[in-house]
Amino acid sequence: MTLARFQMCIDGQWVDALSGKTFHSLNPALGEAWAELPDADEADVERAVQAAQRAFEAPAWRGLSATARGKLLRRLGDLIGARKEELAQLESRDNGKLIRETRGQVGYLPEFFHYTAGLADKLEGGTLPLDKPDMFAYTVHEPIGVVAGIIPWNSPLYLTAIKLAPALAAGNTIVLKPSEHASATILELARLALEAGFPAGVVNVVTGYGPSTGAALTRHPLVRKIAFTGGAATARHVVRSSAENFAKLSLELGGKSPNIIFADADLESAVNGAVAGIYAASGQSCVAGSRLLVQDAVYDEFVARLIERARRIRIGNPQDDASEMGPMATEQQLAIVERMVAQAQSEGATLLMGGRRPALDGNGWYYEPTLLACARHDLTIMQEEVFGPVAAVIRFKDEAEALAMANDSQFGLAAGIWTRDLGRAHRLARDVRSGIIWVNTYRAVSAMAPIGGFKNSGYGRESGIDSVLAYTELKTVWINLSPAPMPDPFVMR
Ligand code: NAD
Repeated sequence: MTLARFQMCIDGQWVDALSGKTFHSLNPALGEAWAELPDADEADVERAVQAAQRAFEAPAWRGLSATARGKLLRRLGDLIGARKEELAQLESRDNGKLIRETRGQVGYLPEFFHYTAGLADKLEGGTLPLDKPDMFAYTVHEPIGVVAGIIPWNSPLYLTAIKLAPALAAGNTIVLKPSEHASATILELARLALEAGFPAGVVNVVTGYGPSTGAALTRHPLVRKIAFTGGAATARHVVRSSAENFAKLSLELGGKSPNIIFADADLESAVNGAVAGIYAASGQSCVAGSRLLVQDAVYDEFVARLIERARRIRIGNPQDDASEMGPMATEQQLAIVERMVAQAQSEGATLLMGGRRPALDGNGWYYEPTLLACARHDLTIMQEEVFGPVAAVIRFKDEAEALAMANDSQFGLAAGIWTRDLGRAHRLARDVRSGIIWVNTYRAVSAMAPIGGFKNSGYGRESGIDSVLAYTELKTVWINLSPAPMPDPFVMR
């Protein structure tokens, strides 16, 4: 098979790595290489960051009004909309996500860019009601500088958009480092940004591996903010890198999100919510509802209905419209899933469904929807993220026990609550320690709704009305109104 060949985008130019080195991206449905990309090292990252810094200072970008920046973002959203099918196909081939899912995500991106475009010129500072009558002071929001965007493989375009759009709306420049497993659509996004009219150097993309390309970018002294989405172990490296020059940080990390099903819930919806939470996207979702907490009275019925529904899931080529579950994005991820399911059983969990690769033609990295019953909440499978189609289910007797289990986690990204009792829904929405609470629904997203986590799920929020503020510095300006000479210089005024 001939490989598709990609170049990186640095300073508005399409370039190879200075070293000439390349790496391959693999198609998870076939288990074989389909694309060749530049393997950027420190020298390439240097070029990209310097280009972003120059663009940040240049009048072509710095001199644009916020309204003009918003118009560019709106145009970018339109261009994405015009190419949405192409982008959805490309992302599905690169990371093995269902074409149904990538179509949905890419189809929504224009809305996201349009929403953020509208925020660009609404970053109002304030005038301060000072307690000093001879002084006037006001605040302004200014861009931070060069932003590094570090992206995982599971939803590259969406997770890039929620960094890129607010960073640009606020007037920053950016260097993106997509995952080595899924870079193609981010390079296409940079092409569309140039076509939309963003000046050269405002949006740059370097491709390569985390410990080399990613690390060189996050420790670069000119990078003033790092927006990271990925795993906790990687995040610790990134936090250490940021300490070098105190780069600002947002971290969107993993989760072990509880989906809590009460006896009074609409069970059919709850079953669908559980499937959406853990088997959609083959469980490769940061908000995966991987812990199913089910009330005693409906436990047996719920589990039976979930198994019945999950057994009907059509596993197959992600680019086939009929498929409902595709492969794991990488062979290593498949190995992790297999190891964690085996470990769960050795710790006492009971395999109720799945637990193996399906019998399919070809070499894709597929895994069956899997369900493990746990008698105890301290099993590894209840505590650690799998990032695969593996749910662990446990019973609870009452609301207090459900809440205690829900919060017994190092993570706090999302939670689902299934009940018809309004008071209980609000009590748990208040008491569960997670950044996102879904009541009688799961895996809903919107440009207007912030996402992000409590505890080890990270810090900072993306999307929503405040997302652009996260890419600004606040400046306070003081004006002395008094005609009198400056008084005693040794006393603070
Ligand atoms: P990962 O942490 O392995 O990689 C993420 C990115 O970091 C990649 O681009 C990688 O190349 C880069 N990287 C790796 N080492 C680096 C280093 N030393 N310095 C700088 N960059 C480095 O994550 P992944 O396997 O691509 O994605 C899966 C993880 O992402 C899961 O834990 C998942 O929960 C999380 N995730 C979180 C969200 C969210 O919004 N909270 C969304 C999607 C995925």
